[in-house]
Amino acid sequence: MSTITSTDNSFRFLFEDADVRGETVALQHVLNDLYAAHPYGEGVKRLLGEFAAATVVISNNLKFQGRVVLQGRSDGPLSLVMLECSSEGQVRGLARGDLDAAKGPLSSLLPNGVLTLTIEPDVGQRYQGIIAVQRDELCDVLSDYFEQSEQLATKFWLSADEGAAAALMLQQLPKQLVPDETVRFDQWQTLCALAETVTDDELLAIDTDNLLYRLFNEWTVKRFDPKGIRFECNCSSERSLNAIRLLPEHEITELFEEQETVTMNCEMCSKHYSYSLTDVRPEEEHTLH
Ligand SMILES: [Zn+2]
Repeated sequence: MSTITSTDNSFRFLFEDADVRGETVALQHVLNDLYAAHPYGEGVKRLLGEFAAATVVISNNLKFQGRVVLQGRSDGPLSLVMLECSSEGQVRGLARGDLDAAKGPLSSLLPNGVLTLTIEPDVGQRYQGIIAVQRDELCDVLSDYFEQSEQLATKFWLSADEGAAAALMLQQLPKQLVPDETVRFDQWQTLCALAETVTDDELLAIDTDNLLYRLFNEWTVKRFDPKGIRFECNCSSERSLNAIRLLPEHEITELFEEQETVTMNCEMCSKHYSYSLTDVRPEEEHTLH
């Protein structure tokens, strides 16, 4: 096992005497970058943090190159919360709506909302699951969804404050080490009960090795090397330029009649891209007057 050095990483771990695996995620710097793009209030920062930690956990299940996108939509205080994490650990995201909405659970910020979980492989077909927000907390909504869709019992614990977010997940594995159904069930129940004792503060403050010891010291746990997580937006000058090129011809003409350069801002990382009419229509000679 290597020493933990970064503040933003995720770990996989296995119980050596049970068919159960787990993951932890701790995020700090990623969130600073994520929050920098918009004037998010405390409540929205907290929800974005939970979304980020959850999306990283889910992305660790990817067995191919690609990305996981977790989106929440509602007609409540927030119209959209979106977090993306790639198989390489690149995170980006945003929230839209009342950015100063009061701190509260998922159900108060996205009341009667719908979550969409999209798995996008770089090559191959994308998969989308739709989840109604019928529980107060994001961790419970996701636990229910995974239990139904993966048919493997899965539980999430999420915690976030203004500057940090963390996740713990346990998932039952297909029968391998423990063939007896009763023992299997008891082990799962016991491990979940132990994990359930974790407080929000502990989840945020204790590093993975100490957390695993604090929760599961009577079990043999094998922890794998960490995977680094970072904020990285995959927007590009070329993509923004293509977005302008997709506008109807007359709109492009009008845009550049009003100003010599048009600036596009990326909503997720606040990068600015500026273009002249020559950039948009390089094949023509232009005179504006
Ligand atoms: Zn960007």
